[in-house]
Amino acid sequence: MSHAASSFSLPPNIISRSSRRRVNNNNSSSLSNNKNNIIKKTISKSSIITPRASSSSDKMTSKQTTIGFLGAGIMAVPMALNLINNGNHNLIVWNRTASACDPLVKAGATLAKTAQEVCEKADVTYVMVSTPEATLEVATLAKDGVSDGKGYVDCSTVDRHTAKKVSEMITSKGGRYLEGPVSGSKAPAENGQLIFLCAGSESLFKEINADDANQLNKMGKASFFLGEEVGAGANMKLIVNSCMGSIMASFAESIALCEDASLSKQDLLEVLALGAINVPMFGMKGPGMISSDKNTKFAPAFPLKHQQKDMRLAVQLADELGRELPVAAAANEMYKRARRDGHDDEDFAAVLHAVRRE
Ligand code: NAP
Repeated sequence: MSHAASSFSLPPNIISRSSRRRVNNNNSSSLSNNKNNIIKKTISKSSIITPRASSSSDKMTSKQTTIGFLGAGIMAVPMALNLINNGNHNLIVWNRTASACDPLVKAGATLAKTAQEVCEKADVTYVMVSTPEATLEVATLAKDGVSDGKGYVDCSTVDRHTAKKVSEMITSKGGRYLEGPVSGSKAPAENGQLIFLCAGSESLFKEINADDANQLNKMGKASFFLGEEVGAGANMKLIVNSCMGSIMASFAESIALCEDASLSKQDLLEVLALGAINVPMFGMKGPGMISSDKNTKFAPAFPLKHQQKDMRLAVQLADELGRELPVAAAANEMYKRARRDGHDDEDFAAVLHAVRRE
Protein backbone atom coordinates (compact mmCIF):
# COMPACT_ATOMS: atom_id res chain seq x y z
CA MET A 1 0.00 0.00 0.00
CA SER A 2 1.28 3.40 -0.85
CA HIS A 3 1.81 5.93 1.89
CA ALA A 4 2.25 9.47 0.66
CA ALA A 5 3.73 10.64 3.97
CA SER A 6 6.79 8.49 3.37
CA SER A 7 7.95 10.91 0.69
CA PHE A 8 8.15 13.81 3.18
CA SER A 9 11.31 14.60 5.10
CA LEU A 10 10.87 13.65 8.74
CA PRO A 11 10.40 16.41 11.31
CA PRO A 12 13.13 16.44 13.99
CA ASN A 13 11.01 14.79 16.70
CA ILE A 14 10.35 11.70 14.60
CA ILE A 15 13.02 9.11 14.90
CA SER A 16 13.72 6.67 12.16
CA ARG A 17 13.45 2.98 12.90
CA SER A 18 17.20 2.43 12.99
CA SER A 19 17.92 5.41 15.26
CA ARG A 20 15.05 4.57 17.62
CA ARG A 21 16.98 1.64 18.95
CA ARG A 22 19.85 3.90 19.88
CA VAL A 23 17.51 6.30 21.68
CA ASN A 24 15.91 3.42 23.45
CA ASN A 25 19.22 2.26 24.84
CA ASN A 26 19.96 5.72 26.16
CA ASN A 27 16.49 6.01 27.51
CA SER A 28 16.55 2.89 29.63
CA SER A 29 19.02 4.39 32.08
CA SER A 30 17.19 7.71 32.25
CA LEU A 31 13.95 5.91 32.99
CA SER A 32 15.46 4.48 36.14
CA ASN A 33 17.54 7.50 37.18
CA ASN A 34 15.20 10.42 37.17
CA LYS A 35 11.49 10.36 37.70
CA ASN A 36 10.95 13.86 36.30
CA ASN A 37 12.90 12.86 33.30
CA ILE A 38 10.59 9.93 32.76
CA ILE A 39 7.68 12.23 32.14
CA LYS A 40 9.64 14.50 29.81
CA LYS A 41 11.19 11.60 28.01
CA THR A 42 7.94 9.75 27.70
CA ILE A 43 6.13 12.71 26.20
CA SER A 44 8.94 13.05 23.70
CA LYS A 45 9.67 10.35 21.12
CA SER A 46 12.54 8.99 23.22
CA SER A 47 10.13 6.73 25.08
CA ILE A 48 9.73 4.62 21.97
CA ILE A 49 11.21 1.21 22.45
CA THR A 50 11.61 -1.04 19.48
CA PRO A 51 12.44 -4.72 19.58
CA ARG A 52 15.57 -6.08 18.08
CA ALA A 53 15.08 -8.36 15.10
CA SER A 54 13.83 -11.84 15.94
CA SER A 55 16.60 -14.29 16.45
CA SER A 56 16.53 -18.04 16.13
CA SER A 57 18.49 -18.23 19.38
CA ASP A 58 15.71 -16.57 21.38
CA LYS A 59 14.41 -19.83 22.69
CA MET A 60 17.87 -20.80 23.88
CA THR A 61 18.76 -17.58 25.66
CA SER A 62 15.57 -16.29 27.29
CA LYS A 63 14.59 -17.08 30.84
CA GLN A 64 11.72 -19.54 31.03
CA THR A 65 8.63 -17.86 32.40
CA THR A 66 5.02 -18.80 32.82
CA ILE A 67 2.79 -16.28 31.14
CA GLY A 68 -0.95 -16.03 31.61
CA PHE A 69 -3.46 -14.80 29.07
CA LEU A 70 -7.07 -13.87 29.93
CA GLY A 71 -9.32 -13.44 26.88
CA ALA A 72 -9.40 -15.20 23.52
CA GLY A 73 -10.94 -12.79 21.03
CA ILE A 74 -9.78 -11.30 17.72
CA MET A 75 -6.74 -9.66 19.32
CA ALA A 76 -5.94 -11.96 22.24
CA VAL A 77 -5.50 -15.14 20.18
CA PRO A 78 -2.80 -13.84 17.78
CA MET A 79 -1.07 -11.95 20.61
CA ALA A 80 -0.90 -15.10 22.73
CA LEU A 81 0.21 -17.17 19.72
CA ASN A 82 3.15 -14.81 19.24
CA LEU A 83 4.16 -15.41 22.86
CA ILE A 84 3.91 -19.18 22.41
CA ASN A 85 5.72 -19.30 19.09
CA ASN A 86 8.44 -16.73 19.67
CA GLY A 87 9.58 -17.11 23.23
CA ASN A 88 10.63 -19.60 25.83
CA HIS A 89 7.36 -19.44 27.72
CA ASN A 90 4.81 -21.73 29.26
CA LEU A 91 1.47 -20.20 28.46
CA ILE A 92 -1.61 -20.69 30.63
CA VAL A 93 -4.89 -19.32 29.28
CA TRP A 94 -8.49 -18.71 30.28
CA ASN A 95 -11.50 -17.22 28.53
CA ARG A 96 -15.12 -16.85 29.61
CA THR A 97 -16.04 -19.11 26.70
CA ALA A 98 -13.45 -21.85 27.03
CA SER A 99 -13.75 -23.14 23.44
CA ALA A 100 -12.33 -19.87 22.08
CA CYS A 101 -8.98 -20.96 23.62
CA ASP A 102 -8.82 -24.03 21.32
CA PRO A 103 -6.25 -22.51 18.88
CA LEU A 104 -4.02 -21.65 21.84
CA VAL A 105 -4.30 -25.07 23.43
CA LYS A 106 -3.53 -26.62 20.05
CA ALA A 107 -0.37 -24.48 19.90
CA GLY A 108 0.78 -25.73 23.32
CA ALA A 109 -0.95 -23.57 25.93
CA THR A 110 -2.51 -25.01 29.08
CA LEU A 111 -6.20 -24.28 29.62
CA ALA A 112 -6.96 -23.10 33.17
CA LYS A 113 -10.30 -23.66 34.87
CA THR A 114 -10.45 -20.15 36.30
CA ALA A 115 -8.92 -16.71 35.81
CA GLN A 116 -7.63 -16.93 39.38
CA GLU A 117 -5.70 -20.11 38.54
CA VAL A 118 -3.98 -18.26 35.67
CA CYS A 119 -2.70 -15.53 38.00
CA GLU A 120 -1.64 -18.08 40.62
CA LYS A 121 0.49 -19.97 38.11
CA ALA A 122 1.80 -17.15 35.91
CA ASP A 123 4.62 -14.67 36.59
CA VAL A 124 2.94 -12.14 34.32
CA THR A 125 -0.69 -12.23 33.19
CA TYR A 126 -1.91 -10.37 30.10
CA VAL A 127 -5.57 -9.43 29.66
CA MET A 128 -7.32 -8.56 26.40
CA VAL A 129 -11.09 -8.34 26.69
CA SER A 130 -13.76 -6.13 25.19
CA THR A 131 -15.09 -3.36 27.44
CA PRO A 132 -14.58 -1.59 30.79
CA GLU A 133 -17.27 -3.87 32.26
CA ALA A 134 -15.49 -6.98 30.96
CA THR A 135 -12.10 -5.90 32.23
CA LEU A 136 -13.54 -5.23 35.71
CA GLU A 137 -15.30 -8.60 35.72
CA VAL A 138 -12.12 -10.41 34.70
CA ALA A 139 -10.02 -8.57 37.30
CA THR A 140 -12.57 -9.47 39.98
CA LEU A 141 -12.29 -13.13 39.01
CA ALA A 142 -8.49 -13.04 38.72
CA LYS A 143 -7.33 -10.87 41.61
CA ASP A 144 -7.22 -13.54 44.33
CA GLY A 145 -4.57 -15.34 42.31
CA VAL A 146 -2.28 -12.32 42.43
CA SER A 147 0.46 -12.17 45.07
CA ASP A 148 3.64 -10.22 45.80
CA GLY A 149 5.52 -9.05 42.71
CA LYS A 150 3.32 -10.74 40.10
CA GLY A 151 2.63 -8.78 36.95
CA TYR A 152 -0.80 -7.96 35.52
CA VAL A 153 -0.86 -6.24 32.14
CA ASP A 154 -4.29 -5.19 30.89
CA CYS A 155 -4.25 -4.45 27.15
CA SER A 156 -8.02 -3.91 26.77
CA THR A 157 -9.16 -0.47 25.61
CA VAL A 158 -10.89 1.09 28.61
CA ASP A 159 -11.26 4.49 30.28
CA ARG A 160 -8.81 5.78 32.90
CA HIS A 161 -11.27 5.26 35.80
CA THR A 162 -11.54 1.58 34.97
CA ALA A 163 -7.77 1.26 34.62
CA LYS A 164 -7.34 2.84 38.05
CA LYS A 165 -9.90 0.50 39.62
CA VAL A 166 -8.16 -2.56 38.19
CA SER A 167 -4.78 -1.18 39.27
CA GLU A 168 -6.06 -0.89 42.85
CA MET A 169 -7.43 -4.43 42.77
CA ILE A 170 -4.06 -5.82 41.66
CA THR A 171 -1.73 -3.68 43.76
CA SER A 172 -3.81 -4.29 46.91
CA LYS A 173 -2.81 -7.95 46.52
CA GLY A 174 0.89 -7.04 46.20
CA GLY A 175 0.93 -7.35 42.42
CA ARG A 176 2.32 -4.92 39.87
CA TYR A 177 -0.10 -3.38 37.38
CA LEU A 178 0.59 -2.03 33.92
CA GLU A 179 -2.01 -0.79 31.49
CA GLY A 180 -0.95 -1.59 27.94
CA PRO A 181 -3.68 -0.85 25.39
CA VAL A 182 -2.53 -1.32 21.84
CA SER A 183 -2.68 0.60 18.61
CA GLY A 184 -2.98 -1.78 15.66
CA SER A 185 -5.61 -4.27 14.61
CA LYS A 186 -5.94 -7.97 13.76
CA ALA A 187 -3.17 -8.10 11.12
CA PRO A 188 -0.60 -6.20 13.24
CA ALA A 189 -1.50 -8.52 16.14
CA GLU A 190 -0.81 -11.52 13.90
CA ASN A 191 2.45 -10.04 12.62
CA GLY A 192 3.78 -8.84 15.97
CA GLN A 193 3.47 -5.20 14.88
CA LEU A 194 1.34 -3.71 17.65
CA ILE A 195 2.20 -0.43 19.42
CA PHE A 196 1.85 -0.66 23.22
CA LEU A 197 0.75 2.45 25.17
CA CYS A 198 1.79 1.65 28.73
CA ALA A 199 1.53 3.31 32.12
CA GLY A 200 1.79 2.06 35.69
CA SER A 201 4.55 -0.12 37.11
CA GLU A 202 7.83 0.93 35.55
CA SER A 203 9.67 -2.13 36.85
CA LEU A 204 7.14 -4.40 35.17
CA PHE A 205 7.35 -2.40 31.96
CA LYS A 206 11.13 -2.80 31.90
CA GLU A 207 10.96 -6.51 32.65
CA ILE A 208 8.53 -7.38 29.91
CA ASN A 209 10.30 -5.08 27.46
CA ALA A 210 13.73 -6.57 27.94
CA ASP A 211 14.95 -8.16 24.72
CA ASP A 212 15.35 -11.58 26.34
CA ALA A 213 11.92 -11.42 28.01
CA ASN A 214 10.40 -12.04 24.58
CA GLN A 215 7.09 -10.51 25.53
CA LEU A 216 6.14 -7.02 24.30
CA ASN A 217 8.78 -7.18 21.60
CA LYS A 218 7.24 -10.38 20.23
CA MET A 219 3.74 -8.95 20.13
CA GLY A 220 4.61 -5.44 19.02
CA LYS A 221 6.98 -3.19 17.14
CA ALA A 222 7.11 -0.35 19.68
CA SER A 223 6.21 0.30 23.29
CA PHE A 224 5.69 3.65 24.97
CA PHE A 225 6.01 4.11 28.72
CA LEU A 226 3.77 7.11 29.37
CA GLY A 227 4.44 7.37 33.10
CA GLU A 228 3.57 5.81 36.42
CA GLU A 229 0.20 7.55 36.63
CA VAL A 230 -2.34 4.89 35.64
CA GLY A 231 -4.79 6.25 33.08
CA ALA A 232 -2.21 7.81 30.75
CA GLY A 233 -2.28 4.70 28.56
CA ALA A 234 -6.08 4.62 28.44
CA ASN A 235 -6.24 8.31 27.58
CA MET A 236 -3.64 8.04 24.81
CA LYS A 237 -5.41 5.02 23.31
CA LEU A 238 -8.79 6.80 23.32
CA ILE A 239 -7.27 9.87 21.70
CA VAL A 240 -5.67 7.74 18.98
CA ASN A 241 -8.90 5.82 18.36
CA SER A 242 -11.08 8.90 18.32
CA CYS A 243 -8.79 10.26 15.60
CA MET A 244 -9.04 6.95 13.70
CA GLY A 245 -12.83 6.71 14.13
CA SER A 246 -13.31 10.29 12.94
CA ILE A 247 -11.16 9.69 9.87
CA MET A 248 -13.06 6.51 9.04
CA ALA A 249 -16.42 8.26 9.43
CA SER A 250 -15.28 11.07 7.15
CA PHE A 251 -13.92 8.54 4.62
CA ALA A 252 -17.29 6.73 4.63
CA GLU A 253 -19.10 10.03 4.03
CA SER A 254 -16.80 10.80 1.10
CA ILE A 255 -17.53 7.41 -0.49
CA ALA A 256 -21.27 7.98 -0.05
CA LEU A 257 -21.04 11.48 -1.51
CA CYS A 258 -19.09 10.11 -4.46
CA GLU A 259 -21.98 7.68 -5.12
CA ASP A 260 -24.53 10.50 -4.95
CA ALA A 261 -22.45 12.63 -7.33
CA SER A 262 -22.12 9.70 -9.78
CA LEU A 263 -18.36 9.79 -9.57
CA SER A 264 -16.08 6.78 -9.73
CA LYS A 265 -15.22 5.58 -6.22
CA GLN A 266 -12.09 3.92 -7.61
CA ASP A 267 -11.02 7.35 -8.84
CA LEU A 268 -11.60 8.72 -5.35
CA LEU A 269 -9.29 6.08 -3.84
CA GLU A 270 -6.60 6.82 -6.42
CA VAL A 271 -6.79 10.59 -5.88
CA LEU A 272 -6.56 10.11 -2.10
CA ALA A 273 -3.65 7.70 -2.45
CA LEU A 274 -1.61 10.19 -4.46
CA GLY A 275 -1.97 13.12 -2.11
CA ALA A 276 -0.71 14.22 1.28
CA ILE A 277 -3.95 13.19 3.02
CA ASN A 278 -3.47 9.53 2.21
CA VAL A 279 -3.42 7.20 5.22
CA PRO A 280 -2.73 3.45 5.15
CA MET A 281 -6.26 2.77 6.37
CA PHE A 282 -7.73 4.06 3.08
CA GLY A 283 -5.68 1.52 1.17
CA MET A 284 -6.60 -1.32 3.53
CA LYS A 285 -10.31 -0.67 3.93
CA GLY A 286 -11.11 1.36 0.81
CA PRO A 287 -11.29 -1.40 -1.83
CA GLY A 288 -13.79 -3.42 0.25
CA MET A 289 -15.84 -0.36 1.06
CA ILE A 290 -16.17 0.91 -2.51
CA SER A 291 -17.15 -2.51 -3.84
CA SER A 292 -19.74 -3.12 -1.14
CA ASP A 293 -23.50 -2.85 -1.49
CA LYS A 294 -26.17 -2.48 1.15
CA ASN A 295 -26.13 -6.21 1.88
CA THR A 296 -22.40 -6.44 2.40
CA LYS A 297 -21.28 -7.72 5.78
CA PHE A 298 -17.86 -6.36 6.62
CA ALA A 299 -15.78 -9.17 8.18
CA PRO A 300 -14.55 -7.82 11.51
CA ALA A 301 -10.91 -6.95 12.13
CA PHE A 302 -11.96 -4.22 14.53
CA PRO A 303 -15.63 -4.72 15.47
CA LEU A 304 -17.78 -1.62 15.01
CA LYS A 305 -19.22 -1.97 18.54
CA HIS A 306 -15.68 -1.57 19.96
CA GLN A 307 -15.00 1.50 17.80
CA GLN A 308 -18.22 3.11 19.07
CA LYS A 309 -17.23 2.21 22.65
CA ASP A 310 -13.92 4.03 22.07
CA MET A 311 -15.67 7.09 20.55
CA ARG A 312 -18.02 7.18 23.53
CA LEU A 313 -15.15 6.94 26.01
CA ALA A 314 -13.15 9.62 24.14
CA VAL A 315 -16.13 11.99 24.13
CA GLN A 316 -16.59 11.23 27.84
CA LEU A 317 -12.91 12.02 28.50
CA ALA A 318 -13.24 15.35 26.68
CA ASP A 319 -16.38 16.09 28.67
CA GLU A 320 -14.57 15.45 31.94
CA LEU A 321 -11.71 17.70 30.86
CA GLY A 322 -14.03 20.48 29.73
CA ARG A 323 -13.00 20.19 26.12
CA GLU A 324 -15.40 20.34 23.19
CA LEU A 325 -14.89 17.53 20.66
CA PRO A 326 -17.35 18.31 17.87
CA VAL A 327 -15.84 16.15 15.13
CA ALA A 328 -15.48 13.00 17.25
CA ALA A 329 -18.91 13.59 18.83
CA ALA A 330 -20.52 13.73 15.37
CA ALA A 331 -18.64 10.61 14.29
CA ASN A 332 -19.81 8.86 17.45
CA GLU A 333 -23.41 9.48 16.37
CA MET A 334 -22.66 7.76 13.05
CA TYR A 335 -21.32 4.66 14.82
CA LYS A 336 -24.35 4.66 17.14
CA ARG A 337 -26.61 4.75 14.10
CA ALA A 338 -24.72 1.83 12.56
CA ARG A 339 -25.05 -0.10 15.82
CA ARG A 340 -28.80 0.56 15.95
CA ASP A 341 -29.06 -0.78 12.41
CA GLY A 342 -27.45 -4.06 13.45
CA HIS A 343 -23.79 -3.68 12.43
CA ASP A 344 -22.25 -4.31 15.89
CA ASP A 345 -20.17 -7.32 14.95
CA GLU A 346 -19.01 -6.15 11.54
CA ASP A 347 -15.79 -4.27 10.94
CA PHE A 348 -15.96 -0.57 11.81
CA ALA A 349 -15.86 0.12 8.04
CA ALA A 350 -19.57 -0.76 8.22
CA VAL A 351 -20.12 2.81 9.41
CA LEU A 352 -20.54 3.30 5.67
CA HIS A 353 -24.03 1.81 6.07
CA ALA A 354 -24.93 4.70 8.38
CA VAL A 355 -24.32 7.30 5.70
CA ARG A 356 -25.04 5.95 2.25
CA ARG A 357 -28.43 5.85 0.56
CA GLU A 358 -29.63 2.26 0.98
P1 NAP B 1 -13.46 -9.52 20.69
O1 NAP B 1 -12.98 -10.33 19.55
O2 NAP B 1 -14.87 -9.05 20.70
O3 NAP B 1 -13.15 -10.35 22.02
C1 NAP B 1 -13.66 -9.92 23.24
C2 NAP B 1 -13.12 -10.77 24.38
O4 NAP B 1 -13.64 -10.25 25.61
C3 NAP B 1 -13.52 -12.24 24.31
O5 NAP B 1 -12.47 -13.03 24.82
C4 NAP B 1 -14.74 -12.27 25.26
O6 NAP B 1 -14.99 -13.51 25.82
C5 NAP B 1 -14.26 -11.31 26.32
N1 NAP B 1 -15.36 -10.80 27.12
C6 NAP B 1 -16.36 -9.99 26.71
N2 NAP B 1 -17.18 -9.71 27.75
C7 NAP B 1 -16.68 -10.37 28.83
C8 NAP B 1 -17.08 -10.47 30.18
N3 NAP B 1 -18.16 -9.82 30.64
N4 NAP B 1 -16.34 -11.22 31.03
C9 NAP B 1 -15.23 -11.86 30.55
N5 NAP B 1 -14.80 -11.81 29.28
C10 NAP B 1 -15.52 -11.06 28.42
O7 NAP B 1 -12.59 -8.20 20.89
P2 NAP B 1 -11.20 -7.76 20.25
O8 NAP B 1 -11.42 -7.18 18.91
O9 NAP B 1 -10.20 -8.86 20.44
O10 NAP B 1 -10.86 -6.52 21.21
C11 NAP B 1 -10.42 -6.71 22.54
C12 NAP B 1 -10.04 -5.34 23.10
O11 NAP B 1 -8.98 -4.79 22.30
C13 NAP B 1 -11.16 -4.31 23.08
O12 NAP B 1 -11.05 -3.47 24.20
C14 NAP B 1 -10.88 -3.51 21.79
O13 NAP B 1 -11.41 -2.21 21.85
C15 NAP B 1 -9.37 -3.53 21.79
N6 NAP B 1 -8.72 -3.42 20.46
C16 NAP B 1 -9.21 -4.13 19.40
C17 NAP B 1 -8.59 -4.02 18.17
C18 NAP B 1 -9.08 -4.76 16.95
O14 NAP B 1 -8.69 -4.36 15.83
N7 NAP B 1 -9.89 -5.80 17.07
C19 NAP B 1 -7.46 -3.21 18.03
C20 NAP B 1 -6.96 -2.52 19.14
C21 NAP B 1 -7.62 -2.65 20.36
P3 NAP B 1 -16.07 -14.52 25.13
O15 NAP B 1 -15.29 -15.27 24.08
O16 NAP B 1 -16.53 -15.38 26.24
O17 NAP B 1 -17.17 -13.68 24.53
